[in-house]
Amino acid sequence: MKKKKKNIRGLSLKELQDFVESLGERKYRAAQLFSWMYAKGAQSFDEMTDISKEFRVVLEHSARIDSLDLVRKSVSPTDGTTKFLFRLNDNLMIESVLIPPEETSPAAERRLTLCLSTQVGCPLDCKFCATGTMGFLRNLTAGEIIDQVTHAQRHASRRITNLVYMGMGEPMLNYEEVMKSVDILSDDRSLNIGAKHIAISTAGYADKIRQMADEDRKEKLAISLHTLDNEKRTQLMPITKKFSVDDLVEALEYYYRKTRRRPTFEYIPFDGFNDTKEDIRRFVKLSKRIPCKVNIIPFHSIAFTGASGFAATLKPTPRVRMEAFAQALREENITVMVRSSAGEDIEAACGQLAVEEKKSKAKSKPTITETVS
Ligand code: SAH
Repeated sequence: MKKKKKNIRGLSLKELQDFVESLGERKYRAAQLFSWMYAKGAQSFDEMTDISKEFRVVLEHSARIDSLDLVRKSVSPTDGTTKFLFRLNDNLMIESVLIPPEETSPAAERRLTLCLSTQVGCPLDCKFCATGTMGFLRNLTAGEIIDQVTHAQRHASRRITNLVYMGMGEPMLNYEEVMKSVDILSDDRSLNIGAKHIAISTAGYADKIRQMADEDRKEKLAISLHTLDNEKRTQLMPITKKFSVDDLVEALEYYYRKTRRRPTFEYIPFDGFNDTKEDIRRFVKLSKRIPCKVNIIPFHSIAFTGASGFAATLKPTPRVRMEAFAQALREENITVMVRSSAGEDIEAACGQLAVEEKKSKAKSKPTITETVS
């Protein structure tokens, strides 16, 4: 029987070493493979010109480098946000988004952020998020997470400097593969994107937050908080039934005490739902307990999913009141950023990622779309 070729994209250096040794080759070959795949983005063994022809033939017979298939690249004509649609080997689809900097300082202008998916769909069913309407199909492998960066880098005009694990899916439900991808991408023999420039966002897995603290993981931690009212949060984010607001806050307190790293809270103000004086008061109280940063994210429409019931009642807080909400927190010495809605015109903004067939054909604005064979 013909031996199945091993997919090596996604293997760590140690795993590559074991693999080349199993082929009777010297260990240093693993470092070459690692650098070709992850630093140089090689898609085939042919490209690996400093590896001997003989060994490349051996590799061809025993290994393969699985790649995502780039189906479409859409560029926002208003802000340059670029959305990539990828097909996986089993024909499922995922999206990633390249986000240009919002600020205009020279330091910010050198920044280029990629928003990565960690699952196909998502099981959490947060009422405001388009991805939730797809349901959950499967976890991505570390190789599939990494390859989103490899492809995006090829299309980017400069180096990708930051990664946010905030695309489709819940990273904490795919913890092992997510952390493996982080370890590979942050390696200085790979793309060398330091942990300080990588953010992992969770809907509230208190157990994994504690695990990150125990493992002393250096990535930035973001929490999609959205309200501190347990009942409202249960309505908005069913995960609250598993980990209550109190469980979450306790885990974050543990995280902060252990790591001294400030988590970032993401907060979408919904008109009349979580944007009142009482909400501000609770938030301020929380910030006294857990030093934190706050990202206010405007609610991006997910009307294209045909939302109904409670989801359909959610409306964005008007801009002026959103700014006032942010200002009230700043007055209490909380660091607050109000996010722009980069990519909203191409449905690439936070929470708008869902594969094509779920969307209505009607698009509000034209986009530059390049279909890649
Ligand atoms: N599951 C993870 C990561 C994916 S969501 C998490 O929950 O954090 C990434 C961010 O987009 C989260 O802060 C989420 O709350 C936000 N988001 C989801 N839907 C949104 C929408 N319609 N408008 C604005 N932000 C949204």
